Amino acid sequence: MRPKERILDAPVYQPGKPIDEVKRELGLTEVIKLASNENPYGCSQKAKAAIAAGLEDLALYPDGGSMELRWEVADFLGVKPDQLIFGNGSDEIILMIARAYLGEDTNTVMANPTFSQYRSNAIIEGTELIEVPLKDGVHDLEAMAAAINDKTRVVWVCNPNNPSGTIVTEAELTAFLKKVPSDVLVVMDEAYYEYVVAPEYPQTIPMLEAYPNLIILRTFSKIYGLASLRVGYGVAAEKIISDLNHVREPFNTGSLSQSAARAALADQEFVASCREKNRQALKQLTDKFDQWGLNYYPSQTNFILVDLKQDSTEVFNKLLRKGIIVRSGSALGFPGYQRITVGTAEQNEKLLAALEEVVTEAMPQ
Ligand code: PMP
Repeated sequence: MRPKERILDAPVYQPGKPIDEVKRELGLTEVIKLASNENPYGCSQKAKAAIAAGLEDLALYPDGGSMELRWEVADFLGVKPDQLIFGNGSDEIILMIARAYLGEDTNTVMANPTFSQYRSNAIIEGTELIEVPLKDGVHDLEAMAAAINDKTRVVWVCNPNNPSGTIVTEAELTAFLKKVPSDVLVVMDEAYYEYVVAPEYPQTIPMLEAYPNLIILRTFSKIYGLASLRVGYGVAAEKIISDLNHVREPFNTGSLSQSAARAALADQEFVASCREKNRQALKQLTDKFDQWGLNYYPSQTNFILVDLKQDSTEVFNKLLRKGIIVRSGSALGFPGYQRITVGTAEQNEKLLAALEEVVTEAMPQ
């Protein structure tokens, strides 16, 4: 069997270590996973009830167009239903964008480090990668605009950026969008949109009218707490959505997932309470990091990238042995760092206790 050669250059995605695997391997009874930016408060009770109600119809294919979810999200965002496309997680929307717009004899511009899937999908499609280093952990939009040329089809802006947690501001984004040629697609990946509290964060939905080359990605995996169900969506001009529909799989979001997403969307109280709790829990972490003199990037998300000034793999393994799974910075382009999902106050306590031992061990006596 001979696969297309270039797919072998696309790295296989390395997820955070699963809790059960760590329990089994290390013989631990309690393991806390702070590795995949999941919501530690779970999801809305209403989403669970919606799933229970949908169990009678498991034999039927889902609504391929996600129509009810589409109408409700359209109404929620103030856009037309035809401006939306749903995917098996926003991961799948990224794949659809790459499949629809990228190929040989094109290039695509992205930051580095940023979310890994832009790169992987670009490699699979055989496009040239133009990776622009972050500046102080933030997208360097000026350099990214300057990197665009005749062959550029797609530019990826992860805002807030994974893994740094930082944002580009409205002023920076507007200046950038003015420079991008109108036939180059700008992807705004806003997976962590609902966590952001900074007033300078751009509200991109109203920008769609002025910039018909924009697509905004959001997800039910993060603050809505439905990562297991795989629902994400793209919002863009109708022409872009209609292009993407040509490469969309027929039944790419499940019925239970659609029902749960609708119920979750309707429970904005849950979203607001998670955002509030996350900010407090983030402060619990940064207060301690400040006390220990550790540097970290200012986060507008539910994770934080902290510089422990020690070999990432070693620290990762030390924490693992204490029953805490984080994400090693070396796998994310930040050697010496760890990316830590913000947990509940109780989970954070345990993380900080474990981390304190690691940090103080390394301090000069
Ligand atoms: N974009 C970013 C920036 C992410 O961090 C993630 C999740 N790791 C995704 C997209 C994909 O999320 P999902 O497919 O669960 O919607």
